[in-house]
Amino acid sequence: MYTYKQVKVKAPLLEGNDRFILNIDNHQEIMEALADFARRQKIQSGVVEGIGAISEATFRFLDPATKQYVDKTFQEQMEITNLTGNFSRKEGEVYLHVHLTCSRRDYTCVGGHLLSARVNGACELLVTDFGLTSVGRRFDPETGLNLYDI
Ligand code: FE
Repeated sequence: MYTYKQVKVKAPLLEGNDRFILNIDNHQEIMEALADFARRQKIQSGVVEGIGAISEATFRFLDPATKQYVDKTFQEQMEITNLTGNFSRKEGEVYLHVHLTCSRRDYTCVGGHLLSARVNGACELLVTDFGLTSVGRRFDPETGLNLYDI
């Protein structure tokens, strides 16, 4: 028996979604810029995807056994091979959940749950705003995560 929650995004609504080509300017911090964009555009729920180049990234790893966060920063020039994330709201505030994978000079990749990343080159994103569908978040004590509240 599998359990899950779902929100149906109606086809006409999906077709009517606003999409934004978003270019974050050089040397800006991606998570702060994305949150600012979502506040200004009043995005309640949506997704973001993209590519680019960065000079620094900080990731956060949650150890499920201890529920302790382990953060790690990489300070080097890297290509964003994939940025994927979503927008929701927690207590009315914009809530971003973004994962990023990036490649280093030697073509190995690092990645994970993104806390911050600084653009050094380009940051070319595509944002889809789901419009009317509001997606919430709430803290889940079992996992220690802010999970979807839908
Ligand atoms: Fe995550």
